[in-house]
Amino acid sequence: MSSTVPRWFSTLSLSMKQLGRLPWLLDALPSLPAPRGTVGASEVPSLFREPYILSGYRPVGQDWRCYILSLFQRHNELLNVWTHLLTVPVVLLRCGAFVGAQGLTLEAPSLPLLLYMLSALTYLSFSTAAHLLQSHSELAHYSLFFLDYVGVGVYQYGCALAHYFYGSEAAWRESTVGTLYLPGAALLAWLSCAGCCFAKVRYRRPYPLLRKVYQLVPTGLAYVLVISPIAHRLVVGSWHDSTLTRHALQVLFFLTAAIFFSCPLPERLFPGCCDIVGHAHQIFHIFLALCTLCQLEALLEDFLAQRHSMLQVHREGHLLLACASFPILVFCCAVTAGAMCSSVQKQLRLKHE
Ligand SMILES: [Zn+2]
Repeated sequence: MSSTVPRWFSTLSLSMKQLGRLPWLLDALPSLPAPRGTVGASEVPSLFREPYILSGYRPVGQDWRCYILSLFQRHNELLNVWTHLLTVPVVLLRCGAFVGAQGLTLEAPSLPLLLYMLSALTYLSFSTAAHLLQSHSELAHYSLFFLDYVGVGVYQYGCALAHYFYGSEAAWRESTVGTLYLPGAALLAWLSCAGCCFAKVRYRRPYPLLRKVYQLVPTGLAYVLVISPIAHRLVVGSWHDSTLTRHALQVLFFLTAAIFFSCPLPERLFPGCCDIVGHAHQIFHIFLALCTLCQLEALLEDFLAQRHSMLQVHREGHLLLACASFPILVFCCAVTAGAMCSSVQKQLRLKHE
């Protein structure tokens, strides 16, 4: 004890000396630019305006660091950013704890689950980046939302893999839908990404109804297919099963999210009142994050139930082929988004000439 006290004092005095040097340290750091105050809808180009959102826009053309610092500024994208940004560590910690506790490795039975986890983290991170940084310029707006759509396609196929290998019944897998499920899901995931990118490039505000058709038809069809093994279980299974309750919740949360994605409610009823908090896209993000969290819990339980019988139920070659399609899909989505990006770049160059 007698030697501990002097040691404690010497540590404290060392820390005080270091604190004394802090102002010098802060001076040495590059000074960060302060984000400009938000502006009204009429002060940003029409591309950045959202229907019935009248204020809270970040000015276009600031330094990239201003948009990063806008994480702590009051603006109309703030909750769109934080809803998905906060879900990333929740998913990451839950997945990390599960992988550690179960000792998961890159073996065939765990691969669909690991790819599903990766796909969820991908869509959440890409969406966060898009909403945080899109106001930088027109090109940044297009490029980052194309990235967001790549995340959507990748997540759809990640869900399809996990639903098929851990969440489907044998009777459903033997049906026509079950036979065509994985190639169909991969195709529709790519079409969702391509359809959303195309609609973004093709149409200008005020958007015609056809734009929603290009966005919603492939994503809607993809969802109907991707959820079909779970829907089948919900119809034939016992509702006393807690895993099925979690799957029912993921469906309920997704359908609620889809309603708010399709209709600009409540801002249509109260224009200008939901600019910072409460507009439809924020509600859509919250329900989508809840859907992912319920889906993750349900799939972890399904995985534990199926893990040891996986290679008796599914041929290893079939499983590996389905998982190998994942990087191919990522590549196809990335190439499509890249092609759309160069088309936008050309259009913007012509516009400014
Ligand atoms: Zn979003």
